[in-house]
Amino acid sequence: MTAMIIETEKNKWEVICGLEIHCQIVSNSKMFSGASTEYGTEPNHNVSFIDAGMPGMLPTLNEECVRQAIKTGLGLNAKINKYSEFSRKNYFYADLPQGYQITQFQYPLVGEGSLEVETEDGSRRTIGIERIHIEQDAGKSIHDLDPSMTFVDLNRAGVGLMEIVTKADFRSPEEAGEFLRKLRSIVRYLGTCDGNMDEGSMRCDVNVSVRKVGETSFRPRSEMKNVNSVRFVMQAIESEAKRHVEVYENGGTIEQETRQFDPASGTSKLMRKKEFAHDYRYFPEPDLLPLVLTDEYIDNIKKEMVELPDAKKARFINELGITAYDAMVLCENREVAEFFEKAAAGHDAKKVANWMMGDFFALLNKDGLSIHESPISAENLGKLVDLITKGVINGKTAKDVFEMMAETGESPEKIVEEKGLKQVTDTAAIEAIIDKIIADNPANVEAYRNGKTGLMGWFVGQVMKASGGKANPAVVNGLLQSRLS
Ligand code: MN
Repeated sequence: MTAMIIETEKNKWEVICGLEIHCQIVSNSKMFSGASTEYGTEPNHNVSFIDAGMPGMLPTLNEECVRQAIKTGLGLNAKINKYSEFSRKNYFYADLPQGYQITQFQYPLVGEGSLEVETEDGSRRTIGIERIHIEQDAGKSIHDLDPSMTFVDLNRAGVGLMEIVTKADFRSPEEAGEFLRKLRSIVRYLGTCDGNMDEGSMRCDVNVSVRKVGETSFRPRSEMKNVNSVRFVMQAIESEAKRHVEVYENGGTIEQETRQFDPASGTSKLMRKKEFAHDYRYFPEPDLLPLVLTDEYIDNIKKEMVELPDAKKARFINELGITAYDAMVLCENREVAEFFEKAAAGHDAKKVANWMMGDFFALLNKDGLSIHESPISAENLGKLVDLITKGVINGKTAKDVFEMMAETGESPEKIVEEKGLKQVTDTAAIEAIIDKIIADNPANVEAYRNGKTGLMGWFVGQVMKASGGKANPAVVNGLLQSRLS
């Protein structure tokens, strides 16, 4: 367990946290209208009469949003509810033209599930998922374009959301951070949400409370709305827990309230007090029928599920023999994992993993490239490793070949052939070079023979240099050893 305990002179406090994560569903059109969901278009460009809340407009459920939420539920080992209902959540806000949000309340589409997280120290904990319901997003109020006015952009109004609600199972900021990273990785694998927190397509409400170690019931929590990065979520949990402890230790009380976390100062400020479900006057959405699914419908979606990061990781460790750490890094992103698997096919997987995590990632980082834009194909990376394994080129030459592959996109065989980079394993050729170096450097030879064995590295370096870097280092070492002793 990696629980965060806040120790004061008098008490030990345990940190309790639960998350509510809004994930924008990947779909071409909005949840209840045919308007496009495209991000970054001109303000109020993708707005239908329904999204604008015009009177008399009727919503039509977008089946793709339902399928995507079911996939996500299956990816989180959750129960898919064959019966669910839509409800109206009533509140007044400028960017909510209907005056209510269509959401799910009593009967969500997805029920309980779980996700196991592993923190840096290797400890594992299972975090419970309470539910996933689907609902429509609100528009956006823009406060910073004019000193006296607020603008409203309804492009986002009506875009489908999955709200993933966890149980209050987190006991440290690290666990919450790991959970979010893993969740993001899963929805990206599934293609159900793009997971871009900085674009607001994944937003996190953070519920925090504390209790004395040994207490069994929960104390009142505060909720911080729309925290938009993993790091900020972790900071919000830590700073809010400390604030609670301070209030309690000074004899105060905490009431349930909604707060806003400010990453710049690392503190939160009060938005509103005591907000409960009954404040929203939920009632069943009269314009939509209950959603009833068959087992067959759910089973068909199960058949479309892709291999998820944990399963892929286990397979890479067991079948390809790479380390748990390498598997974790390579499986975080589906495209990277698929690239690796293609590159490793039929070659030394461990070496391929090393090359990917070393020179290959460095190359992509340096030029800010995604894996799709890589100038080196998976097949060619695998072939490069093969040339080393088979002794055609040595490790040093391989680095040069890699550079040339990055520049030209050519296959390693072609580069090695054209540039004459094949490793020299011919003993006679190497011996000739050694003879010359020994003859030219009598002082060093004598020093070596008198016990300055550290000079071996220098001799190897000289031979390698004279061979244009192409000599087989193992052969060079062996020959030098016998000639110098
Ligand atoms: Mn919500």
